[in-house]
Amino acid sequence: MDILVCVKRVPDTAENEIEIKGDGTDIERDDLVYSVNEWDNYATEEAIQIRDDKGGTVTVVTVGDEEAEEVLRRQMAMGADNGILLSDDAFEDTDGRGIASILKAEVEKGKYDLILTGAQADDGAAQVGGMLAAMLDLPYAALVNKIEVIDDKKIKVGREIEGGNQELNEIELPCVLSIQTGINEPRYVGIRGIRKVASVEIPTHGTGDLGLDAGSVGASAAKVKRVDYFTPEMGAGAEMLEGSMDEMVEKLIDMLKAKGGLK
Ligand SMILES: Cc1cc2nc3c(=O)[nH]c(=O)nc-3n(C[C@H](O)[C@H](O)[C@H](O)COP(=O)(O)OP(=O)(O)OC[C@H]3O[C@@H](n4cnc5c(N)ncnc54)[C@H](O)[C@@H]3O)c2cc1C
Repeated sequence: MDILVCVKRVPDTAENEIEIKGDGTDIERDDLVYSVNEWDNYATEEAIQIRDDKGGTVTVVTVGDEEAEEVLRRQMAMGADNGILLSDDAFEDTDGRGIASILKAEVEKGKYDLILTGAQADDGAAQVGGMLAAMLDLPYAALVNKIEVIDDKKIKVGREIEGGNQELNEIELPCVLSIQTGINEPRYVGIRGIRKVASVEIPTHGTGDLGLDAGSVGASAAKVKRVDYFTPEMGAGAEMLEGSMDEMVEKLIDMLKAKGGLK
């Protein structure tokens, strides 16, 4: 089975203090530490496990600037066979629909049985996977937390639904799935693994290679425009706990006990 995994390079929330820019257009991006989007890491692990079991290839693809190559190498160190960087000045400040259209152009250059995205990325829009499926006119399942390959035409997918319940669907290949965290245990990537793929050539495709009109992507083509980005005012009665993690946990337990939530 040939699998394409869409991965995004995102600020690592464990490593950064995220601050909003003064003009409310974005977060402060100077000096941020970046990593692969958590959901995409699960998607890559799942693809590698399917390939190891059934054969085929795993290709990871990202839309980003040249620095985004580092997440492709990381996923290749994990076990992905190929990486493709989709990069062009024209791609800057593209909205979710535009990102999906760039990915669609790359999908159509290859032949994939299965296309995986994460359920969501750092902007939390959860839109790219569904839009990509619609643009490719392929079946789609979201929030997938189990994949079982039936044969080379069909797979069974489990989905997490309301109230802790689980749904199972049979879905025809090729298809697009958005992967939920917890579907597997992503393997650790060590420095040695990263070094091994350090010199592997990663092709870069831009508008020309993808047959895209530069005017169809980027800020000017964005049909969704962020108009503000802010921290909401604290509501009445809200209390922010301060101190170390242990101190905050202790305060929280005292508060819950005082309000009868804990005996
Ligand atoms: C400076 C800046 C300006 C922006 N301006 C706009 C704007 O004007 N309008 C607007 O709507 N958005 C804008 N964005 C947001 C940006 O386009 C989002 O990254 C995009 O909408 C995807 O949303 P998301 O990250 O929530 O992805 P989701 O839809 O939550 O991601 C789901 C999955 O899609 C895949 N995916 C998402 N992004 C990529 C990628 N780049 N490469 C490969 N796979 C990917 C991954 O598998 C991911 O897990 C801007 C972002 C920045 C940094």
